[in-house]
Amino acid sequence: LLTVRGLRKSFGDHEVLKSIDLDVRRGEVVTLIGPSGSGKTTVLRCLNGLEVPDAGVAEFAGQLTVDFSTPMAKKQVYGLRDRSAMVFQHYNLFPHKTVLENVIEGPVQVQKRPKAEAVQEARDLLARVGLAGKENSYPFELSGGQQQRVGIVRALALRPQLLLFDEPTSALDPELVGEVLAVIKELAEEGWTMVVVTHELAFARQVADEVIFMDGGVVVERGHPDTVLRNPREERTRQFVDRLL
Ligand code: ATP
Repeated sequence: LLTVRGLRKSFGDHEVLKSIDLDVRRGEVVTLIGPSGSGKTTVLRCLNGLEVPDAGVAEFAGQLTVDFSTPMAKKQVYGLRDRSAMVFQHYNLFPHKTVLENVIEGPVQVQKRPKAEAVQEARDLLARVGLAGKENSYPFELSGGQQQRVGIVRALALRPQLLLFDEPTSALDPELVGEVLAVIKELAEEGWTMVVVTHELAFARQVADEVIFMDGGVVVERGHPDTVLRNPREERTRQFVDRLL
């Protein structure tokens, strides 16, 4: 579905991504792990067009090729944004909008879909993640786990081809992590294609088709979860994994 080659991004003279390659096949779950500051979030933000990389090429499903080193890339990244949807660490819900208004905002305002259709779809999706009856609540009335499930529904409502999760459970109290991971796991089983930045290695082992370990803006190791998380080739991976398990 998505092929990325040579992705580079600097902030000032700090080179945060030093040539990252990525292949995400349809229906596959790729997890990105690595220490704080290794560049994981920046990879997702580049894939979603929230950052414009300095160099690299992304090809989406044979429909869209973006060469980030050309001036046209600034416009073309909107094509990436149309095809993917992001779930954020801190949910990023609109605080003054209800749950339902949060979910239909993108489909109605951005995608110009009929409101009645968007509302129906939003209700169905909310029911699927156990939030039926919360449509008219405001985010502050919900637990963190419920807010993040709204965040996931908001992403699904955009009907993206690719879901991007940026540490979706790291802001949650430990007892709420499970309910959010369960929803993500269900989506994986349904065949959604996703890239997940996470520190939940047990989750990665259960769900991921590929685990990518990043450090210092490079991919140190990638492969099957059983290899990368249990029997890594690289010493740096082993140290990271041993600390978290
Ligand atoms: P974390 O687990 O802490 O979120 P990460 O691996 O996701 O870490 P990034 O958030 O991608 O790492 O950040 C990588 C580096 O880029 C960090 O050193 C960060 O300070 C820097 N960085 C990220 N965004 C910006 C920005 N907009 N301006 C300047 N520096 C930035």
